Amino acid sequence: TEKLRLILGDQLNAAHPWFQEVDKNCTYIVAELHQEATYAKHHIQKIQAFFSAMANFAQALTSRGHQVIYLTLDDTAQFEDLTDLLQNYIGSHTTQFEYQQPDEYRLSVQLKEFCVGLSKSKIKTECVDSYHFLLPHEELSKHFKANTSHRMEFFYRYMRKRFNILVDENDQPANGQWNFDQKNRQKLKKQDLSSIPLPLIFSNNVKEINERIERHNIKTIGKSSNELLWPINRQQSNELLHYFCKNLLSKFGTFQDAMTHKADDAITRKQWSLYHARLSFSLNSKMLSPQHVVNTVLDHYQKNADVSIEQVEGFIRQIIGWREFIRGMYWANMPHYTTKNHLNAKNNLPDWFWTADTKMNCLHHAISQSLEFGYAHHIQRLMITGNFCLIAGIAPQQVDTWYLGIYVDAIEWVELPNTRGMSQFADGGLIASKAYAASGNYVNKMSDYCPQCFYSVKEKSTENACPLNSLYWYFMNKHQPLFSSNPRQAMVYRNWQKLNVEAQSDILNRAQHYLNNIDNL
Ligand code: FAD
Repeated sequence: TEKLRLILGDQLNAAHPWFQEVDKNCTYIVAELHQEATYAKHHIQKIQAFFSAMANFAQALTSRGHQVIYLTLDDTAQFEDLTDLLQNYIGSHTTQFEYQQPDEYRLSVQLKEFCVGLSKSKIKTECVDSYHFLLPHEELSKHFKANTSHRMEFFYRYMRKRFNILVDENDQPANGQWNFDQKNRQKLKKQDLSSIPLPLIFSNNVKEINERIERHNIKTIGKSSNELLWPINRQQSNELLHYFCKNLLSKFGTFQDAMTHKADDAITRKQWSLYHARLSFSLNSKMLSPQHVVNTVLDHYQKNADVSIEQVEGFIRQIIGWREFIRGMYWANMPHYTTKNHLNAKNNLPDWFWTADTKMNCLHHAISQSLEFGYAHHIQRLMITGNFCLIAGIAPQQVDTWYLGIYVDAIEWVELPNTRGMSQFADGGLIASKAYAASGNYVNKMSDYCPQCFYSVKEKSTENACPLNSLYWYFMNKHQPLFSSNPRQAMVYRNWQKLNVEAQSDILNRAQHYLNNIDNL
């Protein structure tokens, strides 16, 4: 045919204008690529989920009458990379090549360069928007500037008004407030535990994909079986969305930051995602659009009195606020963002990040759950694994590698700003207004991990003191010149000064001891 259109693995948007009409002169190409399966060491469930969703999408397009070529790893193994493959599929009849704006810088550059080459051979090329996000790609540079601090809250209010979400006719927030976080973020009490719903899981057959992964010697991490629990098409994604509205939304905000070992106990492991939606894979692969998710949640809110504004606002903020904000910061700061290391962190990531084999109960739970399901909720990512890496001074490159591989929803545009910026403060505060550093006290406040831990959360410098306590002070002390001018940190330094010199040095020595033995914590 004359026209070749590329669909990347995270561009499974059935509502894209491309698909409105069947064009007999157009062929779509969807390909399982070696370059994508190996640019990071991925969780095996992530590869299973992407490949299954891609195959389903190709199938759905075919049944709607489109011409689609689906290539498996077997078919693409002979090609060096994506562009080598495309070159091969551009035949003598091809007059036009089109693709959707990739969300990743890496792919954007690769395809742009490819098109420069094509235009020399007189083939017309076009890059169109992916029509997924609320904010069109071409508008991003209006809202986000490179190397400039932006605050999510202002952007979020703009988005509420612009897209007419939870605002009244005067562009004022519905229910009188932009943000209800103060009422949210509670700890789970004992009596709350028994009523946490089970996560909705699927059992998609991925046996053939597993065989391909093995046949092509693709290195992966994490647990897998021949049944994948993640949604792999629009119907399953919608089921998950409705399940969320019906069973989880009413307490989403309340327990958004809570953590419990009861729910993700190694033996029972029944309620591992608490009140979270687990929609990130469906969203990031574009099987669901953010507008559709927001509409569905708002519709449910209007029809159901048991769902309060606190819960709904909290959820909507994640989708139209954080998610779009993170994307804007990514594009404004690439490619330099990948090398940012404001705190000059240089230590190596401990080996137990790949095995969960640590005596620190909180880290053990967050990591073993991640290895098992390719999932951890936001606070586990930010305040357990992320916080440890921050206060232990782990090199951001290594932290990114881990996050980019381990989660089913990990794609660089969303992983990188969350990890480097939000969690590691490696961008010096472009995204976060302060470093999210915490001692064991925070973990104890938001979870029930500490009473069962090998270490003592009340101790700072004794032999079995919680490592997070001394590492926290070590970190704050080390970066005092940088942080002490931030009014949000002033109180912390006053507390540090209250300790006598000996107590301070005991804590710092304990931290040094833990850093020297970081692989055995
Ligand atoms: P819920 O808690 O139910 O939230 C609903 C939705 O809101 C999510 O599906 C997601 O689309 C969106 N959302 C919430 N917080 C964020 C955020 N900070 N940035 C962007 N979107 C957000 N998210 C990814 O999608 N991919 C990643 O690779 C990723 N890496 C992260 C790394 C770190 C260090 C941190 C702190 C956060 C990261 N996040 C990432 C953001 C967030 O943790 C996940 O989106 C969320 O945990 C996904 O689970 P859920 O669908 O159950 O989310």
